[in-house]
Amino acid sequence: MRINLKRTVDYSYNIVIGSALFPRIAADLKKMNLGARYALITDTHVASLHAVLLEKELEGQNLPYRRFVFEAGEQSKNLDTCQILYSEMAKAKFGRDSVIIADGGGVVGDVAGFIAATFLRGVPVVQFPTTTVSQADSSVGGKTGVDIPEGKNLVGAFYHPKLVYIDVDTLKTLREQRKDEYVSGLAESIKHGIVYNQGYLKWLSENASLILSGDTDCLIYLAKRNCLIKGCVVENDPEEKGLRSILNYGHTLGHALEKLSGYKMKHGDGVSIGMSAAVRIAAALDVFKGDIQIQDDILRKFGLPTKIPKEILSRVSLDDIVNATRTDKKAAGGKVRYALPRYYGVMDDFGGKYKTPVDNEVVRAALIAISK
Ligand code: NAD
Repeated sequence: MRINLKRTVDYSYNIVIGSALFPRIAADLKKMNLGARYALITDTHVASLHAVLLEKELEGQNLPYRRFVFEAGEQSKNLDTCQILYSEMAKAKFGRDSVIIADGGGVVGDVAGFIAATFLRGVPVVQFPTTTVSQADSSVGGKTGVDIPEGKNLVGAFYHPKLVYIDVDTLKTLREQRKDEYVSGLAESIKHGIVYNQGYLKWLSENASLILSGDTDCLIYLAKRNCLIKGCVVENDPEEKGLRSILNYGHTLGHALEKLSGYKMKHGDGVSIGMSAAVRIAAALDVFKGDIQIQDDILRKFGLPTKIPKEILSRVSLDDIVNATRTDKKAAGGKVRYALPRYYGVMDDFGGKYKTPVDNEVVRAALIAISK
């Protein structure tokens, strides 16, 4: 016999981008009627900054909710946090008619998204990103998951949100209170320009000071361009069978550095240094035909790091860094595979795989170049 599970699914969703969106979120949720109870998952920083405002709106629409808070930071992006949240939600009798709202940065989005994918075998999730990383990247595309001691994002699920709200006003507190996080997250926007659209890269370079100063119109345009690029890639390859690998540009070494720093290094800083190494790998392999200096200059213009921090170099060897890339999901058959640019705005497709195995010596040479 055969169990026939062929079916057509539609995971399409809207992304609402703008400023002063709070009042409409709860009204939209009421209209959409995604479920009966809302689990607002957030972290200890965002709870008092933005979650309280969202709660007021939910109350205004008589939408029953409960807040679930975990300690802010990448150190919380693990199965222990999920276990606590699963228990709290189960004890509070959240059922299959629950809806999860992820209110926070990429850590909240990844954890809450993973909880949504797995709690009671799946409940809807709405993403409400509040950082430059999560508004540019993590809230869109359906990748959810957590870290385990062996590496970053090694446990997870593809699980798309029902709706994403990008309110650029939320970035005001990030810029004022955590400027380093605000700046670091812009690495993902620069990545989008390098992997997909040279015109966007040029716009980023020309508007760096407006973006850094938090100009609302600029931030809305930034969010739109990021979502257009990420959306286009994800529409073509939702489960990373090929094209989507280009979005991992800079992430292979970035994840290794994050892990070796005990997750103290910010994600965007890891990506920035990782891109700095990757463009040098691409040049050494004669894949990249552009001018490396352009990437270095734009990263520095935004105040992003292009070299491995001395603090890490004082503790670990370059071989340790190369070894740490082996646990990355992109490793296969002993050699780690890298997404590499051909020109600014165009990644090499490597015969449809969009990543290529690179010898350790080539990686090591690139690391030496960014260690001085
Ligand atoms: P984060 O979620 O840790 O947020 C950074 C810090 O800023 C935290 O302390 C947080 O509490 C605080 N914060 C958040 N919003 C704030 C605000 N508006 N005002 C003041 N403080 C605020 O980190 P992040 O950089 O947003 O995200 C990094 C994570 O995203 C990493 O775990 C990375 O792996 C993941 N990520 C996932 C994807 C994906 O496709 N799923 C893509 C890129 C990155």
